[in-house]
Parts: sequence; structure tokens; C-alpha cells
Amino acid sequence: MKEKGFAMKKRIVRVGPLALGEGVIIQSMTNVRTERTEEVLAQIGRLAEAGCPLVRVSVPDLPSAEALKVICKKSPLPVVADIHYDWRLAVRAAENGAAKIRINPGNMEPEGLKKVVAACKRADIPIRVGVNSGSLPERLLAEYGRTPEALARCARESVKLLEDLDFDQIVVSAKSSDVAGTVAANRMLADLPYPLHIGVTEAGTVRSGLIKSAAGLGALLLDGIGDTIRVSLSGDPVEEVYAARQILRAVGVDKSFVEVIACPTCARTECDVVGLAERVERLTAGLTVPLKVAVMGCAVNGIGEGKEADLGIAGGKGKCVIFRQGEVLCTLPQAEAEAAFLKILEEMCEERRERK
Ligand code: SF4
Repeated sequence: MKEKGFAMKKRIVRVGPLALGEGVIIQSMTNVRTERTEEVLAQIGRLAEAGCPLVRVSVPDLPSAEALKVICKKSPLPVVADIHYDWRLAVRAAENGAAKIRINPGNMEPEGLKKVVAACKRADIPIRVGVNSGSLPERLLAEYGRTPEALARCARESVKLLEDLDFDQIVVSAKSSDVAGTVAANRMLADLPYPLHIGVTEAGTVRSGLIKSAAGLGALLLDGIGDTIRVSLSGDPVEEVYAARQILRAVGVDKSFVEVIACPTCARTECDVVGLAERVERLTAGLTVPLKVAVMGCAVNGIGEGKEADLGIAGGKGKCVIFRQGEVLCTLPQAEAEAAFLKILEEMCEERRERK
């Protein structure tokens, strides 16, 4: 992977206890009505449990902006307030405890934007300039069309609006539902001195959205571009966190996960590879322990192919072999092997957690 800093060295922007510009931070977004504070907090709690460090809530109206008072006070995670057009809501969000505001400055009236910046300065919180290909101004559409150039130009102009108001606690995002367009626009913005939040917007359902996001975010992350990420999925927001973690793991940005490798299965398969791999993934999904686990269909090839794994299981005729870095630990009847394997796995996770 290219060094982080292939883009210009980033200014560190603080969002609550988090430092944007150091590493890559996952975020997700609640999808229940913001004024239903108990439901929002329950969802934030589930996101926190899944390992999400930053959450965004949409603020479409005044009741939502007022609800932030309770949400921000009780939330275990710093809360980003997402606002479109109405500067009054952004001011209220800043006053009510939001840790960051997401707006599109180009869509706000200039006097209102000044008030938003003043409120964010008073609250000492940053602003994310969030531009989307769906809401580009007519002027840029006429000159560039709905292209990555238009998206990047729009983001730069919005950043300039904030800089002209002597504000530099800025995070930038330029999103499109088109993978190639998102990648191209963000590459054009990589020289900005501010952290970039990256994501493919309206990516789709859990399956198709994950694939689009992996393609787009993977390309950017491998270029060293991206300081926070969101995998936008139509579904439970917790799935976004798991998906983001999988992407970070796949590109080698974060190694603090249990990585489950599984063979694709073939005619030699002697055990329930798919079911067991899924059970292991579920069991280890929230853990931040660096561990590689292999689930292989047969002992003939499985032990060799899975020898880099810290722990592995391979099927056999009526039996399963449990192995550790290529060395056989034990051979058990299939009926007992899965429970034994999961027990050893839990012990290893515990051991590593204690070591940490
Ligand atoms: S590990 Fe065995 S069962 Fe799995 S794909 Fe390879 S040969 Fe087939």
C-alpha cells in the first residue's frame, strides 16, 4: 500500500476524543427518526458494541436538532450532525453538543454560513464539507457536467468558503453512487491539507453495496487516501461497521481483527465449511484481536493451505483435524470437533486480549 501521505500531510482534526488524520476511522449513521431519542441511543449503543467509533445522525428539522441535546449527552460515541440547507439547524446542532457538523456550505445562504461557522468556533467543533454528485450547483453542472471534476471543484469551492471565514477545522467528502466517479473525485482532492471522509453514497443493499464500497474505498485506501470511511448500506447500520472493518482488513489498514479464511469447497469437502466459517465470523465479529482462523474442507490440502493460520480446522472422513500454524493439535470425531474448535478459539482470543 502506498504510504499514508501520498496525499498532502493532513491537518489533525479533533472530533470529540478522536483525531481525524491519524489512521482510518470508521463511521456509520443511525436510520431511525432522530427525535425518537431512546431508539437512536439504542442504535448508537449497538454500533458502539460493534466497534464503531463515530456516528452520524441526520437533522432534518428543529425537533431533531433539539433531540441532539439528549442524544449527545448520553451517546457513548461522538455524534456528527448531518444538515442540509438550513443553517439554523446547524447552529442549533452545534449548540446542542454535536461533535462535528456535516453541511454543504455551497448550499447555504452566505449570512447563514457565517453564523454556522461562528457557532462551530464557539463550540470548538469541526465542519465536514460534504458534497454529493446529486446536489451539484447548476453552474458547475453546466461547465463540467455531472463529472468527478464538478464534484472535486464543488468541494474545493466549499472549503474556500470556510477558509475565507477563517475556519480551518475542516473535513472534506465528495461522494457519488458511481464507484469510478467517487474514486476519481477523491484522487483529485488528495492534495487538500484536510482529512478526507470517503464513501460511495447510496451504494445499495448489504450485498451489492458492500461490493461497490469495497471496490471504491479499496482503491482509495490502497492509494493512502481516506481518513474516515462509511460503507453506506440499505440495512442495519451495524452491517456498515462490519463491512467497513472487512474492507480495512482486506487492504491491510487494520490488522486488529479476527480474519476468517475459508476454502471455496470442492468435491473433496468433508465438513460444513460454509456453516462453520459463518459461525466463526459471527462469534468473532466484534473482537479486536489480531488472529487468523482457517476453516478448510479437507485435511489433504486444507492443513497445508491454511498453515499461516493461528488456528484452523479441516474436514476428514467422519473426523476433523484441528491445527495451529500447520501443526496438528488433535483429531476429533466430526460431532465433537466444532465445539472443541470454537472453545480453543475463544481461549486464544482471551489469551491475546489479556496480552494486549
Ligand atoms: S481445502 Fe480441500 S475441500 Fe477445500 S477447496 Fe481445497 S481441496 Fe477442496
